[in-house]
Amino acid sequence: MTSVREVTPNLVRVVASGELEGWNDGGPGAHFKVFLPVAGEVVMRTYTVRDFDREAGLLTIDFGLHADGPVTAWARTAAVGDRFAVAGEARPGYVPSAGARWCLFFADHCALPAVASVLDALPADMRAIVFVEVTDPADETEFRSAAEVQATWLPESGPPCAALLAAARSVVLPEGPGEVWIGCEAGAMRGIRRHVLGELGLPREALHSRAYWKESVPNHSDHDTGSDDG
Ligand SMILES: Cc1cc2nc3c(=O)[nH]c(=O)nc-3n(C[C@H](O)[C@H](O)[C@H](O)COP(=O)(O)OP(=O)(O)OC[C@H]3O[C@@H](n4cnc5c(N)ncnc54)[C@H](O)[C@@H]3O)c2cc1C
Repeated sequence: MTSVREVTPNLVRVVASGELEGWNDGGPGAHFKVFLPVAGEVVMRTYTVRDFDREAGLLTIDFGLHADGPVTAWARTAAVGDRFAVAGEARPGYVPSAGARWCLFFADHCALPAVASVLDALPADMRAIVFVEVTDPADETEFRSAAEVQATWLPESGPPCAALLAAARSVVLPEGPGEVWIGCEAGAMRGIRRHVLGELGLPREALHSRAYWKESVPNHSDHDTGSDDG
């Protein structure tokens, strides 16, 4: 690990170097497995490629800190020189389809690295409407993007991601073709997904959803896209 710094009070940025020659970074918002040594065991979890500098061989990962969990504990004390492993390649992230003119994002704090990475890559003729729920207002950040970005920061209120669900229920979709991206707690993701498909009438292929974690469940499956129950 070549550098560690606090981006915001609950977001730790780690830049790692190592055997990354030819590593497939999966594009904007891609994810991969990290294998971290915690209390004598190797713990595997899923994280986002916040940035990959192929020439310099540097991989940037933003670790969100939450109350519990071995990886959160590791990230709280991470230091330059610490060693860890990553999977051989990242899984593809999200690039809006060619016809889309706008994209709506619903994300919580741990999906912020994915949203920021996708926004980094959006073209100037896209409109991004972003809702992010955070437990601590000090974690609000600026987005960088060529696209027009309209960001709304929502303080956590009640169960995790309930504020995101409420935002989805009151949102009005922009005119023209567009897409919705959801990355947050599993139960809330399903609620937002149902609303977007059922009430807002967006076609399934325009919806990209994934559970980033599940309340009271350690190491929830990163294959949980919510698509089985609509
Ligand atoms: C595709 C994908 C990409 C991801 N990218 C990132 C990323 O770039 N940065 C990032 O910080 N996270 C990211 N995550 C989320 C991360 O994988 C989980 O939060 C992970 O479970 C954290 O591991 P842990 O060891 O800290 O907690 P775990 O051992 O998995 O869980 C312990 C407890 O903490 C709770 N918990 C887990 N995660 C959270 C959370 N985010 N907020 C509140 N409570 C939680 C669980 O419900 C459980 O009760 C990503 C997840 C997916 C599926």
